[in-house]
Amino acid sequence: MTEARRRRIEEVLKKRQPDLTVLLENVHKPHNLSAILRTCDAVGVLEAHAVNPTGGVPTFNETSGGSHKWVYLRVHPDIQTAIAHLRERGFRVYATALREDAQDFREMDYTKPTAILLGAEKWGVSEEALALSHGAIKIPMLGMVQSLNVSVAAAVILFEAQRQRLKAGFYEHPRLDPELYQRVLEDWLRK
Ligand code: SAM
Repeated sequence: MTEARRRRIEEVLKKRQPDLTVLLENVHKPHNLSAILRTCDAVGVLEAHAVNPTGGVPTFNETSGGSHKWVYLRVHPDIQTAIAHLRERGFRVYATALREDAQDFREMDYTKPTAILLGAEKWGVSEEALALSHGAIKIPMLGMVQSLNVSVAAAVILFEAQRQRLKAGFYEHPRLDPELYQRVLEDWLRK
């Protein structure tokens, strides 16, 4: 490990946001999962969450650009467990859904602990997950096609969160508590 590599790892870790995440409900295509993790890395998500359709560990492909090494992925057995876990940790869980009553995603305050719940490619977020979440948000669609690709929707919302957090100075100082910072640093230095 060169000194430059170590410095780069520390610079990135200092920008990680432990209170911003995504929850993927049955997003099963490897390229979507990989693209979402790549965006998570760019925005500073420390750990992403997923409920996997098969119950197995999701696979990644080259779309991830290696980002899956730097964004932890916690896989939960079901959506109830996943949302309960996030709620206990103080996250507000916003379900992305193209519903009449969903709020424009730009109206939310992403400087609060936030989890963006994204749904399956074909079916979207389940009714059950919607009911357990704090509310629904949508990216307004003005074209002929009804929805965006799930990884695109994730990117649009996560970069709005990044914009708000940059403005609030959230990337200027480490946001992980010292013990967690040290633990993650040791893990990253081994990669
Ligand atoms: N027929 C599905 C539905 O009605 O939800 C479409 C699913 S869409 C292809 C896959 C996922 O991308 C959605 O569950 C949501 O998480 C996200 N998504 C796509 N377009 C969106 C939009 N305009 N606003 C918010 N989320 C969107």
